[in-house]
Amino acid sequence: MDYQHILNSIQTELSSTPYTGKVASYIPQLEKIDPKKFGMHLFCINSGHYNFGDSNERFSIQSISKVFALTRATSLVGNELFRRVDVEPSGNPFNSLVQLEYENGIPRNPFINAGALVISDILISLLDNPKKDFLDFIHKITGTTTIDINIKVFESEKTYSHRNAALLNLMKSFGNIKNDINTVLDFYMYQCAIEMSCKELSTAFMIYANGGKRLLDGEQIIPSRKVKRINAIMQTCGFYDEAGEFSFRVGLPGKSGVGGGIAAIHPGQYAVTVWSPPLNPKGNSELGMYALERLTTLTGLSIF
Ligand code: GLN
Repeated sequence: MDYQHILNSIQTELSSTPYTGKVASYIPQLEKIDPKKFGMHLFCINSGHYNFGDSNERFSIQSISKVFALTRATSLVGNELFRRVDVEPSGNPFNSLVQLEYENGIPRNPFINAGALVISDILISLLDNPKKDFLDFIHKITGTTTIDINIKVFESEKTYSHRNAALLNLMKSFGNIKNDINTVLDFYMYQCAIEMSCKELSTAFMIYANGGKRLLDGEQIIPSRKVKRINAIMQTCGFYDEAGEFSFRVGLPGKSGVGGGIAAIHPGQYAVTVWSPPLNPKGNSELGMYALERLTTLTGLSIF
């Protein structure tokens, strides 16, 4: 497969594709990003790296971090994890409160904010230094130790944390948050504020494309049976109330973030990341989704 040729075609096509999406503004620092940024990086298991555009520039990974948090939690806890967070698509926006009330404080899945807050709570209970553990994990799977948080984004999200605090308070009233609310909020926002490039995210996501093994040296980072489950949750819940549309148009397990990134995998084939800040009304990168749709169309392959 000539991936570079396909990526070049996508780049050409996208340079003249109009968009109506808006860069996320509810976290003030994110709004400062140039909406024209666009990068794509595909890391193929067999043939290496392909890319174009701003694929080496770091951006705010935001909710893509929820995949790493779930990975750490599934490594540390068994099936009892899924008593505190379900694995059903929510069909609701990423920061919705409504289902939590009638579902007794059990979030629909780990990839909406409520679910990721429960995962953060679990990691805080289990780890002495959850922030360090989290960054160490990302350094380990990417082999890049300079990856860090953007302090300005972290501080900026604090000015907007009321809704996430509301989710935490509601879940705590049902007994599904064990630690101090501000501690959980702080750790959750820390994860969201991590910055990575398309290349670094594709390298990190290679463990999900490669049965839990780091490609570099074959080290089994997580058991393959756990990767299967994480990939299943990415497929059904990775795009909030647009997970069905993403499956329909793209057909790969993946995860988006409001920083405009989308990381996706084709198990056994590749990990791919796109970055384009303008978001569609569901909070997913508009052109990013389009680029991935073109990728699975032009390669003629998706998991379906
Ligand atoms: N930090 C963001 C929030 O909690 C992450 C949301 C997202 O990327 N969808 O609102």
